Amino acid sequence: MSVNLRIPGPTPCPDDVLQAMSRQMINHRGPEFREMLGRITPALQRMFETKNDVLTLTSAGTGALEAAVVNTLSPGDKALVVSIGVFGDRFADIAKTYGVNVEKLSFEQGTAADPDQIADALKKDGSYKAVLVTHNETSTGITNDLGSIAKAIRGVRPDILILVDAISSLGSVPLPIDAWDLDVVFTGSQKGWMVPPGMAMVAVSERAWKAADEAKSPRYYFDYKKAKSYLDKGETPWTPAISVYFAMDLVLQKLEAEGLHNIHERHARLGQFTRDSVKAMGLNILAKDERYASNTVTSVLVPDGVDGPSLNKMMREEYNTVLAGGQGPLTGKIFRIGHLGLVTQEDLQACFDALEKALPRVGFSSPVAAR
Ligand SMILES: *Cc1c(COP(=O)(O)O)cnc(C)c1O
Repeated sequence: MSVNLRIPGPTPCPDDVLQAMSRQMINHRGPEFREMLGRITPALQRMFETKNDVLTLTSAGTGALEAAVVNTLSPGDKALVVSIGVFGDRFADIAKTYGVNVEKLSFEQGTAADPDQIADALKKDGSYKAVLVTHNETSTGITNDLGSIAKAIRGVRPDILILVDAISSLGSVPLPIDAWDLDVVFTGSQKGWMVPPGMAMVAVSERAWKAADEAKSPRYYFDYKKAKSYLDKGETPWTPAISVYFAMDLVLQKLEAEGLHNIHERHARLGQFTRDSVKAMGLNILAKDERYASNTVTSVLVPDGVDGPSLNKMMREEYNTVLAGGQGPLTGKIFRIGHLGLVTQEDLQACFDALEKALPRVGFSSPVAAR
């Protein structure tokens, strides 16, 4: 029996996608790679609902966070970083590392960012060059209302840069980049894309390209302009993770055959199924307002009297089910269930059946069972 890998990335990959990766290497400066990149790039533009340039970087997702900062900002620039968890904090840390003057607007773990407070911060100080925001905070299982946030930002500052970490949302939940007028938006192959880790994909707007002309942050590997000049001849500046590109090439054909709307529906349905199922077990989710509960990952509060790490250990060792733990301040307080990419209702049901057996063994007495 295969492992039920229920973490929010890396996610399981379809067999044919894994097989595509076992192909022999090709010349990354030859016609085969050029043709493949010529399929991948426009397919990503369609999946991202954007006419902006889309670059592919051989990198973990964090490389894309760093790239967004170094290509658009200079030391001393002021940036408003909206944080609702670990990944928002990481975006802020990276900007600080490069000398950006960061003002962090944090919201309580388990809540979404308030668009009005973001607008107020921009009204109070007109010198911000950019807003950095996480679309789906994987550490808490909260999806920000990015459409409303973008609208609130543009209402105050029509030309400010909006940089979006959409690593665990883009391609899984609605994120129309052009309709929401977002400048830099990026994701990673190992989240909803059903591809192993190794590729980050980033959409770069006209406004962001202008910023890249002026940005003075040091950069070499992650230079957007270098990436674009090579993309124009069907290449990447550095040797790409060719096997991951083989996988992405195939996955995009599969995803486009399914259709963006159906993919979003599938994630919405499985997100709801997860929330309904854990609540039916007598568990509580971290999300304070369910309208913002993520459809790619659910954070469940570890019930009183239960040790979170022990539960995850038992699930892994005895029930073949791998859950994610809490990160940062939520360590030991929550466990997380990934439901993005290649996942069926049956996979999730198997996870809940296992949880139902494991929980009483680690000290949980269900209020539901007691009723
Ligand atoms: C996974 C994730 C990252 C980090 O990606 P790595 O590939 O681990 O560097 C950043 N932001 C979000 C929202 C994520 O889900």
